[in-house]
Amino acid sequence: MSEAHLNKTAPLIDPFQRAITYLRVSVTDRCDFRCVYCMAEDMTFLPKADVLSLEELDRLCSAFVSVGVRKLRLTGGEPLVRRDIMWLIERLGRHLDTGDLDELTLTTNGSQLARYAQDLYDAGVRRINVSIDTLDAAKFKEITRWGRLDQVLAGLDAAKAAGLKVKINAVALRGVNDDEIERLVEWCGVEGFDLTFIEVMPLGEIGGDVGSANRVDQYLPLSMVRARLKERWTLDESDHRTGGPARYVTIRETGQRIGFITPLTHNFCESCNRVRLTCTGTLFMCLGQDDAADLRAPLRESDDDGHVVQAIREAITRKPKGHDFIIDRRRKQPAVPRHMSVTGG
Ligand code: SAM
Ligand code: SF4
Repeated sequence: MSEAHLNKTAPLIDPFQRAITYLRVSVTDRCDFRCVYCMAEDMTFLPKADVLSLEELDRLCSAFVSVGVRKLRLTGGEPLVRRDIMWLIERLGRHLDTGDLDELTLTTNGSQLARYAQDLYDAGVRRINVSIDTLDAAKFKEITRWGRLDQVLAGLDAAKAAGLKVKINAVALRGVNDDEIERLVEWCGVEGFDLTFIEVMPLGEIGGDVGSANRVDQYLPLSMVRARLKERWTLDESDHRTGGPARYVTIRETGQRIGFITPLTHNFCESCNRVRLTCTGTLFMCLGQDDAADLRAPLRESDDDGHVVQAIREAITRKPKGHDFIIDRRRKQPAVPRHMSVTGG
């Protein structure tokens, strides 16, 4: 064990004996897309004055690393649209150099990857998640409202050229991309990307109650996605686990591993190793619960990070056992009022 490990203060263990080793950070709630399941077109964003500076985000993330967080994922909103984001990523990279952090990664819509892929690699990022729900340019525009598929595909080329390993996240949407499931699998196989399907989650008002802007109508259970895949391939259940909500199968014919994230089931809470930080310094101990802790006040109160670490420890004692997601089919209300862009996906 390295000296850095021996010097660590006590790790974060929650009341259910789960070690908290994974922090997801929403570095901005803003985005250059307006995906129909994620945001309303006329979103109101957090006031800039409430948002932590990049220096403050670095201090907070580093405080988490000092108490045993070994994986950091930057997300949003769109992390790569935050001004000077590379400064933060490069700063956080120092924890990779010391061995205190195993992984620094991000989830992105890919729109800015052509510009940043090489810088990300140089900063120590090795894997990224890129969200693409369709390979049809017109549908892509419909889903993202403001996005362009060709721009994202160019970003993926740049990521490959830079040596970044890519995982594609695709939200399964009834009547939108259910006819593209096999095509997505094949494309990822050819490109050498991993692939995970995600079930739509009831987070935040997205505006409208008709057509594509209604999550109850969009909801496509992943059991249906599996069923489609089974018509074409043989699926072997895999015991591969990442500590997260994904469950995996291997396609026997191609050897490809496909992930499924079904957040409405409770099959992952018992092994949950993660917490989520918003860009205003609010810590959510569970994606599906409202309880949160403010870390901005202790951060700004003093230059001594001891205050923040104490606030983090206190928050972890309140991490709940599991979540309470339900899609309310009668009232069509989100189960949790926050948008995914606030807590990060
Ligand atoms: N902008 C980046 C992106 O799209 O990858 C990062 C943030 S986004 C909120 C993270 C992930 O959450 C994306 O894969 C997106 O498809 C997913 N997502 C957003 N809203 C969702 C919802 N209501 N249900 C399920 N997944 C959702
Ligand atoms: Fe933006 Fe990502 Fe939400 Fe789409 S899913 S609107 S890209 S934050």
